[in-house]
Amino acid sequence: MENETVVTKNFIEQIIDKDLAEGRFDHVQTRFPPEPNGYLHIGHAKSILLNYGLAREYHGKFNMRFDDTNPTKEKIEYVESIKEDIAWLGADWEDRLFFASDYFDVMYECAVKLIKKGKAFVCDLSAEEIREYRGTLTEPGKNSPYRERSVEENLRLFEDMKNGVYADGEKVLRARIDMASPNINMRDPVIYRVAHMTHHNTGDTWCIYPMYDFAHPIEDAVEHVTHSICTLEFEDHRPLYDWVVKECEFENPPKQIEFAKLYLRNVVTGKRYIKKLVEDGTVDGWDDPRLVTISGLRRRGYTPEAIRRFVELVGVSKSNSSVDYAMLEYCIREDLKLKKSRVMAVLDPLKLIIDNYPEGQIEYLDAPNNLENEALGSRKLPFGRELYIEREDFMENPLKKYFRLFPGNEVRLMNAYFVTCTEVVKDSQGNVTEVHCTYDPETKSGSAFSGRKVKGTIHWVAACTAVEAEARLYENLVDEEKGVYNEEDGSMNLNPDSLRVRTCFVEPSLAEAEAPESFQFVRNGYFCVDSKDSEPGHLVFNRIVSLKSSFKLPAEPGNEKSCTN
Ligand code: ATP
Ligand code: MG
Repeated sequence: MENETVVTKNFIEQIIDKDLAEGRFDHVQTRFPPEPNGYLHIGHAKSILLNYGLAREYHGKFNMRFDDTNPTKEKIEYVESIKEDIAWLGADWEDRLFFASDYFDVMYECAVKLIKKGKAFVCDLSAEEIREYRGTLTEPGKNSPYRERSVEENLRLFEDMKNGVYADGEKVLRARIDMASPNINMRDPVIYRVAHMTHHNTGDTWCIYPMYDFAHPIEDAVEHVTHSICTLEFEDHRPLYDWVVKECEFENPPKQIEFAKLYLRNVVTGKRYIKKLVEDGTVDGWDDPRLVTISGLRRRGYTPEAIRRFVELVGVSKSNSSVDYAMLEYCIREDLKLKKSRVMAVLDPLKLIIDNYPEGQIEYLDAPNNLENEALGSRKLPFGRELYIEREDFMENPLKKYFRLFPGNEVRLMNAYFVTCTEVVKDSQGNVTEVHCTYDPETKSGSAFSGRKVKGTIHWVAACTAVEAEARLYENLVDEEKGVYNEEDGSMNLNPDSLRVRTCFVEPSLAEAEAPESFQFVRNGYFCVDSKDSEPGHLVFNRIVSLKSSFKLPAEPGNEKSCTN
């Protein structure tokens, strides 16, 4: 029994099972409804994969719907990026791509229906007055003086709103529910406003736009969504959601279910803040590899598999909590470990000269691409008299337990020979500029040499065939010590070292590398070719993640969802 995994269903699956068993729904249909006002981030990935995963699990349908009811901040650029990101994540909406703005007619009809039922009225109060009338958590609100307008008058005024008779803010349409409701969302919420703006889809057809709380349930209902999954902050809006679908008389109305947002510690999530970093030029666009936007993660070298695994590990829960960034890094390391070739690149080069190796000679040594995955084969690695090694792999005065190169010491050059350090050359400031060694031809890697062992192995690149490249090394965008946001003014505490650029040398097998290829640079981490800036003759590599991790997968994943597939 030990290996048997108990598959417990998460709370959303339990609700769906119950709904199906009780006959409330006979199928499952979910949707992902982004507002096209920015790029998607890792939190959205969670929502996408959750909704898509549920539709698959229950052999249902998954709708991709742009919630584009607010023309102020929406743009086609965002629509395109969102589609690209969702497809890349592997959530396939097939032919089920929708735009909420295509339902503006239905929404208008719904509003007219509410007016006719005496459930909505046109109100002339200003936004500020509406706020004053709304009351507080402890005090009931006051009825608007326009609340008792007749149906006929409301119909006429609402039509005038639609026909452009009023300026922005002059009149609104409000649901007529209950100004004394303990739930403030139910106190005659605004459902339509006047906004003379051009919409990216409907152009100038409309000058009134529905509010989110009114539009969203209608969008779901029109599409026959069964389970409308959203994040916790909408819990208090659920009574209004239910009110809208009931009063608009939709059959088999959808059901709203809330789950906790994904928060990553010490990382900027939240579209608003990411947008600010992009707009003030702190980062290089929405796909800057330091951002946890989906396009940033992709450019950084993350794979859809790693993100899916991460989301699965995080699970679905009803209470807010945050997750360590190290968990995301763990997932990409695990994904790349067996898939990628392990190649040599020197990030901080120091010249090493083998004095007893014939000048001008190049030999080609066999190098396995991945010792843990033979299927990746091997390559020929050029070796010569002059090499580059990592500066930190040499110490003139070694510390205790330093097993790499120092005067008099012998180490193995990975996939090559043993070398012994004989001499150090310095410049006038005392900086080491060259290390001289001798090599032992008997010790060639792969030969049966068993004469002696060495404690250190270092990597290298032959100078005559090395390819110069740019390596971009990343750290968190924000200062972990200080926290992401400044308590006083909400500004961000940025880490000045979040990007460091190095000129490095890579082995010639990488000369033709192109995005989205990625590799393990031995000892230095996983790197991918940068999709924006890398070009033949000027290679740019992004460090995806270093090799070391302090992250341990909890023996029992601390989440309510266990892996169901
Ligand atoms: P942000 O909070 O970053 O501004 P948003 O909620 O305004 O994002 P929308 O485009 O409205 O962005 O979101 C689309 C969907 O993604 C919504 O259903 C929303 O609940 C979900 N979502 C947004 N952020 C997260 C998150 N951090 N974790 C899980 N789901 C999220
Ligand atoms: Mg939103």
